[in-house]
Amino acid sequence: MSRDDNPRRAEGQTGKRATSSRLRRRAFLSSAGVAAGALAFGTPTVAADDYQPVTDVPGFSCDQPQFTCGREVTAADGMVSTVDPIASGVAAQILREGGNAIDAAVAIQYVLTVTQPHGSGIGGGGFMVVYDADSDTVECVNSRERASQTASPELYHYDGEYDQDIETGEAMGTPGTVKGLETARERYGSCSRRRLIDPAIRLARDGFTVDWFLAEEIAENTDKFNDAAIETYSDDQGNLYEEGDTMTNPDLADTLECIQRRGADGFYEGPVAADIAATIREYARDPDQVVDEDDLSRYDVTIDDPVRKEWRDVELVGQPMPSSGPTVVAMVLRMLEFLEVEEYDIRSAEKYHLIAESIYSAWADRMEYMGDDEFVDVPVDALLDDDYLQSRADPIEFGETVFPDDDEMGPGQPGETTHFSVIDKWGNAVSYTSTIEQFMGSGKMVPGRGFLLNNELTDFDDEPGGPNEPDAWKRPLSSMSPMIVMRDGKPEFTAGSPGGWAIVSATFQSILHRYDYGLSPLESITEPSIYTHHFGGIEWDEGVPSEARDTLTKWGHEVDDEPSEIGNVQVIASEDGVLTGAADPNRDGQAVGFDRAPGQRSDD
Ligand code: GLU
Repeated sequence: MSRDDNPRRAEGQTGKRATSSRLRRRAFLSSAGVAAGALAFGTPTVAADDYQPVTDVPGFSCDQPQFTCGREVTAADGMVSTVDPIASGVAAQILREGGNAIDAAVAIQYVLTVTQPHGSGIGGGGFMVVYDADSDTVECVNSRERASQTASPELYHYDGEYDQDIETGEAMGTPGTVKGLETARERYGSCSRRRLIDPAIRLARDGFTVDWFLAEEIAENTDKFNDAAIETYSDDQGNLYEEGDTMTNPDLADTLECIQRRGADGFYEGPVAADIAATIREYARDPDQVVDEDDLSRYDVTIDDPVRKEWRDVELVGQPMPSSGPTVVAMVLRMLEFLEVEEYDIRSAEKYHLIAESIYSAWADRMEYMGDDEFVDVPVDALLDDDYLQSRADPIEFGETVFPDDDEMGPGQPGETTHFSVIDKWGNAVSYTSTIEQFMGSGKMVPGRGFLLNNELTDFDDEPGGPNEPDAWKRPLSSMSPMIVMRDGKPEFTAGSPGGWAIVSATFQSILHRYDYGLSPLESITEPSIYTHHFGGIEWDEGVPSEARDTLTKWGHEVDDEPSEIGNVQVIASEDGVLTGAADPNRDGQAVGFDRAPGQRSDD
C-alpha cells in the first residue's frame, strides 16, 4: 500500500486502532468492489492480488516471473507469509537459491528485528514449530524467555501495578531468540549463518522504508522509550521516523555482525551480554532478582515434542507448555466439534455463542492448571481427553451464558508479537510466533546495541501461589499458538497470530473457518472473529452483525459497543501440490510464492 493509499493517512489518522482497522477493512472491501453495506452478509472479499512492490531487497522484485506477491497467492515450489513485505521478499529469495523453509524462517526473524522492531526481535523469545520432511517429524524450538536463576515467586510483590511493572528490569526475561535461530539453523538449515543474517545487516546499515504500522508504534510508545530508543527511532534532525522515511540502525547492524561472526556466543557472552545485563540492572527494583550475565551465558533453548490432538479428520499440532496456546486451541475446537458448530450460520449468534462458551470453559482450565511444565505438572492429556471435553461441552446451551457470571470483566492481557509461516518445495514447514511481549517490549533499548529488551515476564501471574507464579529460571505461560494442521502425517495448513490472550481466538477461528466452513485461506483469516476469556466480555471484529450481537447480549454476554481488531494471522495451505499463502490485511502483510518454472508444475 502506498503512502497516499493508506486509509489512516487519508483520514488524518489519529483515531484508536479499532477505528483505523475499520477504515482499512473498508478500503480493502471497496478496492475489491464490495460495498461497505455488504459487510453484514457473506465473507468480506479482500483483493488477493493487492500486492506491494518491494524495493528494499536487492535482486528481488514482485515483477519477476518466479515470484507472486499478494494478500493471497499460490505457487508450487515455496511459500512465505509474513507481516512484512521486505521479510517475505528476503525469504522468497532464499527459497529460490535452494535454501529450505527453516533457512527462510531464520532470515525472516533477523530481518523483522530490523524492520518490525515493535513486534519481535533478538531481545525477545518465541516458539518455532518445524516439520522436517527428511525425518518426517515435528519438533518445536522453544526459545521462551526465562526468569533469572535468582527470581522468587515474589518477583512482582511490590505494588502489583501492571503499568509500572512492564518497564522494570523484573519484567525482562533472558532473551531466547538468537539461541533459537542458531539452533534451528544448525539442526535443520542448509545455508550459512552469513547468508541468513546478511539481509538484516544490510537493511539496518543501508536503511529500509518505514511502514505506517512501525511509524505508529514509534509515535505511540515514546513514553516508555529510554534515550537509546528515542535516538534510534529518530532521524538525524531528531524527529521520530515517520511512514515512508528511510530508517537506519547502525548499532543493530554492528550487533548482528557480531552474531554473524561469533554465532550465539556473540550475543550471550562478551560485550553485548554485559550491556544487556547492565541495562536490565538499571531498571531493576531489586537487582538481586533480575537477569544477569550468568543467566545469559547459561541460557539455552529446549527442543520440545509438540502437543497433538486428533480433530475431525486431521491432527492439530503445535507448541506445548509453556505455551497454553495450541492446547487451548485444540480444547476449544474439539468442544465445538461436539457442539456441531458447523450447523450454524457463519455470522449467527448461535455460532458466536458456542465459541464464547467454549473459550470461557477452556480458559478457566488454562488459568487453573497451566504453567511451565518444568515446574508444574500440567494435566495436558486429561484436559485433551474426549470424555472430559464432552463433559465441558454438555452444559452449553442456547439462550443463556453458563460460564462467567461475575462482573469482574478484565481487559485480558495486552501484548503484541508477530507470526509467520514458510513451506518449501521439499515439504518442510515452519510455523513461528515470535515476541518481545508488548509492542516495543519494555521500551528499553540496550544502548549502543540497537535492539529492545522484552517485558515477557509480565506473562507470569503477579501474585504467588498459582501454576504460573514467577520462580527462578522459570518460563512464563504464553498464549502464542504456532500450529500446523496435519493430514495423514503431512502439513496441510499452518496458522498463528499475535494478540496476547486473543492469539488463541484468532488462531482457532482461522482453522475453524477453513475446515468447518470451507473458506479459502484468505477468507478464513478475514472472516470476522470474536475474542473472550475466562472473565467473559466479547470483543468483535468489524462485520459481526448487530443482530447477532443483540442476541448475545440478551443471552447474558457482555458485548463491546465498538469493534476491535482480533489478531494478525498469517497462514499457508498445502493441498495437492499447490501452496496457498495468505497474509492478514489488517497490516501490511504479504505472501510471496516461488515457482521455479512459472506456468509449469514442479514434479520433484
Ligand atoms: N507475551 C505474549 C504471550 O506469550 C505474546 C505477545 C502478544 O501478546 O502477542 O502470550
